Amino acid sequence: MASVQLSVLGSKARESRFWNQASETMPRAKLDALHLHRLRALVQYAYDSSPFYRGKFDTAGLKPADIRSLEDFRRKVPLTDKSEFIHLQKEQPPYGPTLALPQEFITHHSETSGTTGIPLGIPFSMLDTVRYGESWVYGYWGLGIRPGDSFYFAFGWGNFAGFWSAYWGARRLGCRVISGGGLDTKGHIEAILRLKPTVLISTPTFALRMASVAADMGVDLAKSSIRFTYHAGEPGPTALPAMRNQIERAWGAKAGELLGIAELSAFAPGCPNGDGVHVDEMSVYSWQIDPATGKEIAEGEIGENILTSYANSAQPLLNYRTHDLVRRRSTCSCGRTWAKFEGSVLGRTDFMVTVRGTNVYQTAVENLLAEVPGVSMHYELVFTREGDNDVMTVRFEPEKTIAGDRALWEEAARDAAERIHKALHVRLEVKPVEPGSLPRYELKTKRIVDQRPKEFRRTLDR
Ligand SMILES: [Zn+2]
Repeated sequence: MASVQLSVLGSKARESRFWNQASETMPRAKLDALHLHRLRALVQYAYDSSPFYRGKFDTAGLKPADIRSLEDFRRKVPLTDKSEFIHLQKEQPPYGPTLALPQEFITHHSETSGTTGIPLGIPFSMLDTVRYGESWVYGYWGLGIRPGDSFYFAFGWGNFAGFWSAYWGARRLGCRVISGGGLDTKGHIEAILRLKPTVLISTPTFALRMASVAADMGVDLAKSSIRFTYHAGEPGPTALPAMRNQIERAWGAKAGELLGIAELSAFAPGCPNGDGVHVDEMSVYSWQIDPATGKEIAEGEIGENILTSYANSAQPLLNYRTHDLVRRRSTCSCGRTWAKFEGSVLGRTDFMVTVRGTNVYQTAVENLLAEVPGVSMHYELVFTREGDNDVMTVRFEPEKTIAGDRALWEEAARDAAERIHKALHVRLEVKPVEPGSLPRYELKTKRIVDQRPKEFRRTLDR
C-alpha cells in the first residue's frame, strides 16, 4: 500500500516562496497607508498608557491628533534612546514609567546582555511574544523550512530575547522544538546525531565552533540530519559572506540570518538571495537618519536605523535609535516589497571609527579579513586614540595550518593590511597573536575592544 504523507498544508501552499504573500509583496502605497494607520493608533496608545510618552509628548507640545502623515510621525515624534529607558528603570525598577500595561499582563521578562553596563529589562505581554516571533517565520519560510522540520536550539536558555523569539517562531510555524539547553559543545553534537533535527539555531560563531569540535571527534556534520542553520545575535551569514560559505560547507546546509534588537523585535529576516535582510513591515516602521545631524537620509546612503515597533504593547518603542548603520533599498529581485538592508548591519554609530578622515565600518574590515589566507575566525578590532586621531588595530590568530610558522603569520598580516588599504583606503596595523590567546564566547562574540579615552567613546551596550 502506498504511504500517505499527511499534511495540513496543500502542496501548493508548501511550495510558495512566501509565508504570507499578500503582506510580503504589498505595494509601497498600501504599505505606507497601513503604517500610517498603525502609527496613529500606536501614538494614541502610548500617550494614553505610558507616563513616559505622555511626558515626552507634552514637553514637545505634541498631541496624538497632530500626526496626520508619515512625515509628521518622523518629524514630530521625539527620538527615544536606550539610555533613557535604562535610566528610568534604574530609578523605578523593574520597568519604571515606560510600562504601558498593568504588571499582571506581563507574561515574559527578558533582558539585554548588558556585558559592559546595566541590562535593560524587556517586558512582554502574551500577544507581544506572538508578534515578536512572527518575523522569524517569514525568514524560516523564505529559506525553505516547512512544518515537519524539527529545530535544535544550541543555546542555554538565558535571558537573551533573540533565541526565545526564534522559539516562539518555530512553534508558530508548527515545527518540533528540541532544546540543547546547557549541554557542552560535544553534548550538542551528540544530541544532534541522536535526535536527528533538521534545523540548527545558534549564533554563527557557535555553529563554526561545533563544526570544529565535531571534526576533532571524527564527526562530519555535513553528513548529519541538519539541512538548515539559522542565526542571530551577531553579524552572520548575510553580513559576512565568507562566514556563510564556512557554515554551509561545514554543515552541508543552507544558512540564514535574522537581524533583531532584543528590546524591540526580531524585525528583519534574511532575504532568500542571501545579500541582505528585509524589514518586516508588518511588525515595525523603519527610517534612517544621519547620526551626526539627525536629518533624514536618502535611499542608498548609509545611516542610522530608527525603528518603531508594533509588537511591544508592554513597553512601546517609538522612533527608537538603534545605533545600527544600514543602507536601505526599496526593491529586491526576490519579489518582496519590504525595505531591504544591503549586507544587514554595516556597523554601529557608537563603534564608528574615523581614521585620518575616513569612516571605517566594522563589517567592511571583517569581510576583508575573512578572505585572507592564514587569518582564522578568531580576531578582534582594537580602538585607541593617538593625538586627534582614532586608531584601529586588527589582532588575529593565525589558522591552525600555519600555527607553527611565524614567518607565515607575518605574511598573512601583511596580506590583510594590503587588502584593507586597497579596498578601504586606510592603513591599519594588523598583528598576529598566539593561537588560542583571544577570548571565546558562547553567545555574542565581542569583536571590538575600545581602549579610547571615555570622552571619545559613544558605546551603548546592547
Ligand atoms: Zn529580497
